Amino acid sequence: MSHSKLVTEGVYMSVIQEIRCPNCGAPIAFKPGEIIATCHYCGFTSVIETGKAFTLEHSMFVNEYNPTQVDELLRNWMRSGFLKPGNLARSSKTQEKNLTYLPFWVIPVTATSEYKGIFERLVPPIMKEGKVEKKYDWLVLARKATEFPTREYDVPLEGKISYDFRKIEKFAKVLNSEIDKREAVEIARQQIESYHQFLAKQDVDKIIEMKNDFSIGVSVYLHAPIWFIVYEYKGERYNVILDGATGMVIKGDIPATRFGAF
Ligand SMILES: [Zn+2]
Repeated sequence: MSHSKLVTEGVYMSVIQEIRCPNCGAPIAFKPGEIIATCHYCGFTSVIETGKAFTLEHSMFVNEYNPTQVDELLRNWMRSGFLKPGNLARSSKTQEKNLTYLPFWVIPVTATSEYKGIFERLVPPIMKEGKVEKKYDWLVLARKATEFPTREYDVPLEGKISYDFRKIEKFAKVLNSEIDKREAVEIARQQIESYHQFLAKQDVDKIIEMKNDFSIGVSVYLHAPIWFIVYEYKGERYNVILDGATGMVIKGDIPATRFGAF
């Protein structure tokens, strides 16, 4: 049976609850707001509210790098590009390096937006019509408060495998989903709509009307290995987010270089 207990987590007080894994009976801990949970013992994924098996596809990417290799990737990134201080790789220290499996929804969408707008760069302005037609595997992060640059993350979809808990490192953290499929589809629709508005505005100055037709495919729930790194350089802390599947830096803070400063 489920019970709850109060635990202190740093300065926060959060209620952690438990359900029994419907597959192996092990306790599955979850936090308020989490709605899809994966068992750490057998990898079984269930819907917390109903205690029933999660029936959609649950996939993952395998993390290909150990902490030492991640440090090497970080140094390589620091040495590349012109915008970084020349001594960044030599003079910085890695302070934190945490591997977290983040939950995502991938929503296949074929989206067509027909628009009418005014092109004002001519006198007199003219009415123009156009169409944006695109296919996406639209990525929605299944967490509400996690900071993650979803649009900058090029998901290596061809490398996905079925979720296998044996491939998850003991030291890694696996986050459960706080967003269900319906909500994820809604978020994808809204984001695509505003992206298409942005695209249409390259063509017309003012949009008068836009008709969207979205055809939604079968969604996939997946966990991706993401390294959250903090490094120190000249007394300041900087964040780097690295994709554990490809070794690519998804986003990294760079110390400002000062030119001509005396
Ligand atoms: Zn289990």
